[in-house]
Amino acid sequence: MSGHHHDHDHDDVDAGPPLGDLQLRVRALESLLVDKGLVDPTALDTLIDTYETKVGPRNGARVVAKAWIDPKYRQRLLENASTAIAELGYIGRQGEDMVVLENTPKVHNMVVCTLCSCYPWPVLGLPPVWYKAAPYRSRAVIDPRGVLKEFGVTVPDDVEVRVWDSTAELRYLVLPERPAGTEGLREEQLAELVTRDAMIGTGKVEAPRPKAKR
Ligand code: FE
Repeated sequence: MSGHHHDHDHDDVDAGPPLGDLQLRVRALESLLVDKGLVDPTALDTLIDTYETKVGPRNGARVVAKAWIDPKYRQRLLENASTAIAELGYIGRQGEDMVVLENTPKVHNMVVCTLCSCYPWPVLGLPPVWYKAAPYRSRAVIDPRGVLKEFGVTVPDDVEVRVWDSTAELRYLVLPERPAGTEGLREEQLAELVTRDAMIGTGKVEAPRPKAKR
């Protein structure tokens, strides 16, 4: 007999970790503000979306850009990601045991959590809805190339696709390939090119489009 539905031993985001005092206060405040008509729930959704796509992943993007610019940092990052990421001040829950996976012309890495939604919060922020959804979680393993195609990423046949299953113990961050044509860019400019999806492995970093000439 087992009372466990799943033995993935960590704070499961979709089941929801037990709410701490702070979360309970936030929930209570949120419902109160919405009830009183002081806050529009869709505005809250917009805020969360911003954190998922804009604010959260900026930390990871800075890590990636620094690794592109500084070979010694890149080396440290690949050898001990948690420590190298902490050098930039990104420390926190769900980011204690990080591994950085380097994409190369021969290997494309892609990250999933097949059991739930393990995700490196300190570097990527909140996981996107699709990352937590069953179709991505199952198909990423069965048909990674098919999933990548849906994200608009075509991986040539001679490039190996490696799929990494996150757990409570290990969180992965993909170090995408630096695109050609970015040789003259500064670190901050490079960081702006790095998308969240590129760091999950469901995207690639594109060089900036040349400005339209008149
Ligand atoms: Fe998980």
